[in-house]
Amino acid sequence: MTRRRWIAEHWDEATATLAGAQAEHLARVLRARPGMEADVVAGGRVFHAQIAAVTLAGEKSEVRFNLTAELLADPALPVTLVMAIYKFDRMEWAIEKATELGVAAVAPVVARRTEKHLAQGAGKRVERWRRIAHEASQQARRSDVPLIHDPVALSTHVRTASAATRIVLAEQERTTTLRHAAEEAIDAANEEMPALEIAIGPEGGWAPAEEALFDANGWRAASLGPRILRAETAAIAALAVVASLLE
Ligand code: SAM
Repeated sequence: MTRRRWIAEHWDEATATLAGAQAEHLARVLRARPGMEADVVAGGRVFHAQIAAVTLAGEKSEVRFNLTAELLADPALPVTLVMAIYKFDRMEWAIEKATELGVAAVAPVVARRTEKHLAQGAGKRVERWRRIAHEASQQARRSDVPLIHDPVALSTHVRTASAATRIVLAEQERTTTLRHAAEEAIDAANEEMPALEIAIGPEGGWAPAEEALFDANGWRAASLGPRILRAETAAIAALAVVASLLE
C-alpha cells in the first residue's frame, strides 16, 4: 500500500506542518497519531516523515511531522498552460486533469471571446482553482503544486517577455503539429528541458486579431489534429503529447 502523501504549508530543515482543513481531516477523519508515517512534500522536496504532534482544533488544527529521509522528487512537466477562461466547471475539471498530468503552471487569460460574466468572475475563482490544484497534486502524489497565476488579459500575457518556447493551439493550423513544435523545442534546448507555454482558446476560439497578436509576438501555431476539441480536451491532449516526449 503506497504511503499517503501530504503537501505541507510550513516547513524547516527538520520538520513540516500541515495546517487548517487538511490537518483537521488528517487528525479527525484519518485519526492521525504521533508515530504514524507518511510522505510529506515540503518546498518541492519529498520526505519520508513521522508524525510528531497532532493538534485537533477546527481550522486551527495542526499536524507536525519530523522529516526523516528525503525521497526522489518527480519534476513537473516544464509546461505552462495559458488557458483562455471558459465555463468554470469545465475549466476546473481541466485544472484538475492538467495537475494530474504534471503541468507546472496554469495562466488563465481573458480572451476576446471569453464570456463577459466569466471574465468578471474569474478573479474571485482563483483561490478555488488553487485549492483544486493542491488537492489534485496530493491525489496524484506530485512533489509540487502547479502555480495558478492571477487572470490577466490575453494581450498582457502574450506581450510579457518569456524564455519559454511559446505555442498557440489553433485548430485551423494544418502544417505544424504540437508534437513537431515540441520536438523542435526539445532539440533546440540540447540537454536542457525546454520550458513551453501552450495557449488554448475559449469555446468560441481565438479572434483573428488574437491570432495576429500571437504571430507578431513570436508564438508558433500548432495543431492537435483535424478534429475540433473542447478546450479541456485540448489541454489534456497537449499535455499528453508533451509528456510522451519528455518523460
Ligand atoms: N473554433 C472552434 C470551433 O470552431 O468550434 C472552437 C474553439 S475550441 C472549442 C477551443 C480551443 O481548443 C481552440 O481555440 C484551440 O486553442 C484548441 N483546439 C481545439 N481543437 C484543436 C485542434 N484540432 N488543434 C489545435 N487546437 C485545437
